Amino acid sequence: MRAMNRNLILNIIRSQGPLSRTQLTELSGLSVGAVSQIVNELLTTGWVYEVGESDYTGGRRQVMLRLNPTAGYVVGLKLMENRVVGAICDLETTVLNYVEHPLTGVHTPDAIAETLAQIVIQALYDTGITREKVRGVGIGLAGVINGETGIVHYSPFFHWQHIPLADRVSRYLGLPVYLDNDVNTLTITEQLFGSGRDVANFAVMTIGRGVGLGVVINHAIYRGHKGGVGELGHVTVVPDGPLCDCGKRGCLEALAADPAIFRTVQGKLALGAPPTLEAIAQAAEQGNKTAHEALARSGYYLGLGLAIVVNLFCPDLIIISGEGVSAGAHRLNPMLNTLRQHTFNGLLDGVEILVKATDDRAWARGAASLVVGKLFESPLVSSQSSVSTQ
Ligand SMILES: [Zn+2]
Repeated sequence: MRAMNRNLILNIIRSQGPLSRTQLTELSGLSVGAVSQIVNELLTTGWVYEVGESDYTGGRRQVMLRLNPTAGYVVGLKLMENRVVGAICDLETTVLNYVEHPLTGVHTPDAIAETLAQIVIQALYDTGITREKVRGVGIGLAGVINGETGIVHYSPFFHWQHIPLADRVSRYLGLPVYLDNDVNTLTITEQLFGSGRDVANFAVMTIGRGVGLGVVINHAIYRGHKGGVGELGHVTVVPDGPLCDCGKRGCLEALAADPAIFRTVQGKLALGAPPTLEAIAQAAEQGNKTAHEALARSGYYLGLGLAIVVNLFCPDLIIISGEGVSAGAHRLNPMLNTLRQHTFNGLLDGVEILVKATDDRAWARGAASLVVGKLFESPLVSSQSSVSTQ
């Protein structure tokens, strides 16, 4: 109970601070004495610190409390099929060091786990942060991932099944390691630090190498059974359509993700090698019909997928994210038009749609925010885990 109350106070300070003790009492519903005791403990252990004083409002001036962003550090890694990107962050997920690492050699779970651990050790060393100050490592990757157990149930890139990857990396590092679907990590970032703050129901659709979906229902990530949620990319949009990486035919991803666009323009458009979305978007902008049609076709199918999301969940907010957003209006306008045409009457009214480009750094930061989420949601922030002062 004590740990839970302490965590409640810490979370309120993290999400709404700086706050006075009086405000904390009002927001937490705890007694003045309990708040005072917890705050003293958090000050002693270095989790929070006192800043200035609130504006003079006629009453007594009050000392404000703020989360100490360097009370610990978190590490985020995004594991992709041929490389890893990582970020060392403080507790507000300010990126202190960003690293990229190609993945060569064997892709067995053990080899990858060891590589990930080495990347973390090197990055911490380069940042000058000792392991004792690290609260945890978050890893985001595509596939069916159980965020509770840290097990990769299915990885489309490595063809792994039921691999306890979090445990293996943790064994190499001697640090807590958390795992989640990469789109979920991005969704958690939006929830903790981005546009999803204080939004009860929202969805994040990512467009890039694949098409993903993160869903927040009633302020919590919806994880379904074993974490297998949000495989929007593998919804069938054309029965017997083109073959998808997953082995099935006609998946949204096979028709609308970035590789589908590259396949459509291949041989018809003179582009640099490797071709980039930006180059295709530029060609479309200059009136090239092939480029425009390839982007519009992708947008059309994405719109069908998005309409499914709205018809099923009707969230308050949808964030369209991922690298594929950089293709711009030639892809996104057809997407939004199709969305409007295929959404059930009136459901789209009042649904806010935000488009947000994402780069590798944002994915790495997302994985780091996975740890922040765990840290402040669980009652494990105990008085024992005080801030080391070395
Ligand atoms: Zn598929």
